[in-house]
Amino acid sequence: MKVKQLKPRLQGLAPRVAILKTDHDTRRRQQQAWRKWYYTARWKRLRWQCLERDLFTCQLCGRIEPEASKLVADHKVRHLGDPAKFWNLGNLQCLCKPCHDGAKQRAEYRDTVARRVGGL
Ligand SMILES: [Zn+2]
Repeated sequence: MKVKQLKPRLQGLAPRVAILKTDHDTRRRQQQAWRKWYYTARWKRLRWQCLERDLFTCQLCGRIEPEASKLVADHKVRHLGDPAKFWNLGNLQCLCKPCHDGAKQRAEYRDTVARRVGGL
C-alpha cells in the first residue's frame, strides 16, 4: 500500500483514538474512587464491627491481637471497586498485619478463599 492511500485512513482514526483515551482516564478514576472509602466514618465503623465479630483474632493464624491498629479488616473476595463487596461485613475477615501482608498475597490462598465464599 502506498503512503498516499494510508494517510486518509490515519486521519479517520485520530478522533477514535481520542475517545479511547478519554474512556481510559474515566475508567481509571472510577477504579481509584474506592480508595477514599477507606477514609470514611462508615468504613471505620464497618472495620470495627469486623474486628469485634472476629474477637480481635486473626482468621489465618489464630493470633489474638489486642492492638487494633495491628489488625486489618480484609476483604475475602477482592472488591475491585464493587461497593456491594466492599461494604459487605460478610466479605470481611480480621487478619493480623503479618498474615495480611504475607500469606494473603499468595494467589493460592486467594483461590481457596474465593472457592469457599463462592456466591459472592
Ligand atoms: Zn495472622
